[in-house]
Amino acid sequence: MKLEVLGITKSFGSGTECRRVLDDLSLSVEFPHVLALLGPSGSGKSTLLRVIAGLERPDAGSLILDGKQAPLSEKEPILREYRRTLGVVFQAFNLFPHMTAFQNVTVPLITVHGLDEREATQRTLEVMERLGMAEHGQKYPAQLSGGQRQRVAIARALASRSRFLLFDEPTSSLDPEMTAEVLMLIAELKEIGTPILLVTHEMGFARKIADQVAFLAAGRVVEQGAAVAFFNNPQSLVAQRFLAKVLAY
Ligand code: ADP
Ligand code: MG
Repeated sequence: MKLEVLGITKSFGSGTECRRVLDDLSLSVEFPHVLALLGPSGSGKSTLLRVIAGLERPDAGSLILDGKQAPLSEKEPILREYRRTLGVVFQAFNLFPHMTAFQNVTVPLITVHGLDEREATQRTLEVMERLGMAEHGQKYPAQLSGGQRQRVAIARALASRSRFLLFDEPTSSLDPEMTAEVLMLIAELKEIGTPILLVTHEMGFARKIADQVAFLAAGRVVEQGAAVAFFNNPQSLVAQRFLAKVLAY
């Protein structure tokens, strides 16, 4: 899958309060890979991820997926349709507490994606098996560990055959054990071949798992390239400083 971001601009606020968060940002990457979006806090990573996910409308610019323009500026129903084709895994996993793990995957497939019950069940069985959750299908979210809940959330995204998964700091505010579980899971997804766009502050993990890195500063992509090259030999001063700081301890 190929993702091309072309000249995306996004400002928040108006008048003297107006702040340009994405500044004519462009980026081109070929999946299946893990693309890590890195950069200082406030550089626009989350905003970019939200624009790509169709959750935030850009002021200008376009997004092309596999040669086809994403309908980012279209009316809500069309945008909603687009959103369905992507899997955004939010930090709060948004599971329905009154449904079993299995139902949490099956029900949206029926109600949101319009599958019939047989096909929804079949797909759910497949992904739950693939994510090692088959034996936990009948449990309710409260009976699952945090890592298992995250697996259900990801199973739901995979079951809907989303083109790729977007994670925004999936480990922030998690305890070390759960952080490890989530990172392990992302590594597994990479093995399966799921294209992933990952915003993370876990530099050690990004270094291990990312194929490509896009480094953002002040709403622009300052550097983009192979992760190995980026970590071993960052080109820009801003990336050099960032890495020196975050890798120092
Ligand atoms: P990052 O994820 O790299 O830390 P963000 O994309 O979250 O950066 O934010 C970039 C800047 O945009 C920040 O200064 C933030 O305060 C601002 N910002 C993000 N979303 C909004 C919003 N909805 N309204 C106003 N300002 C926002
Ligand atoms: Mg952010």
